[in-house]
Amino acid sequence: MGSLKIENVKKAFGQVEVLKGIDLEVTDGEFVVFVGPSGCGKSTLLRVIAGLEDSTSGRVLIDGADVSITPPAKRGIAMVFQTYALYPHLTVKNNMALGLKQAGTPTAEIERRIKVASAMLSLEPYLQRRPAELSGGQRQRVAIGRAVVREPKLFLFDEPLSNLDAALRVNTRLEIAQLHRRLKATMIYVTHDQVEAMTLADKIVVLNAGRIEQIGSPMELYNSPANEFVAGFIGSPK
Ligand code: ADP
Ligand code: MG
Repeated sequence: MGSLKIENVKKAFGQVEVLKGIDLEVTDGEFVVFVGPSGCGKSTLLRVIAGLEDSTSGRVLIDGADVSITPPAKRGIAMVFQTYALYPHLTVKNNMALGLKQAGTPTAEIERRIKVASAMLSLEPYLQRRPAELSGGQRQRVAIGRAVVREPKLFLFDEPLSNLDAALRVNTRLEIAQLHRRLKATMIYVTHDQVEAMTLADKIVVLNAGRIEQIGSPMELYNSPANEFVAGFIGSPK
């Protein structure tokens, strides 16, 4: 299970309305990509879904339940950030284990999950290393592994490939696609890269200045963009 419903979500920072009424449904197992220019509200929307930010109004429902008062750790969500956000003083293994330890998961179960996730992400050789001893691509795989071991209903990725060089971006993108096929989990993925959006998404949500311009499959957006903004975004590589 991992469906999501967003109902008329608005978010203001002071006088500035950053999300201006977002409505969206994501079904269980779907891979949804949020695209749009820098500053349009993609990260804010992810943070509202994760509970890291309160919306000003509107509702977020996960599997049909309103999560407005559910703390982030209880939402069944794991988030992967552009900057990896690993603990530098902990080994790869302990970075992956920490959240589970804090949640009171039994040690044997933690070991089992780390084994499965590190096999999936080819992290076995690095389990005893610290983040500083890893490449950018390896660090991002650790951050993804840390999300996987939590067995979330919903994965949120915020521009996870932005800090990687071109070759690694392709590899890591393929790994994320493979992970989605294996885990059959719901994934929401933010990017400003059209290639990532077109290749990963079941459904693309095009955001602009705090509003949704269009929602559709990659082919729908490509063949029938709702307006010039969407056409420009899908048409012109940047
Ligand atoms: P995106 O991820 O699409 O680049 P963001 O969601 O990060 O956009 O930001 C949307 C807008 O909200 C930007 O104008 C940004 O400056 C503003 N913003 C984001 N977070 C805050 C905050 N904590 N306080 C004030 N303004 C913010
Ligand atoms: Mg952002």
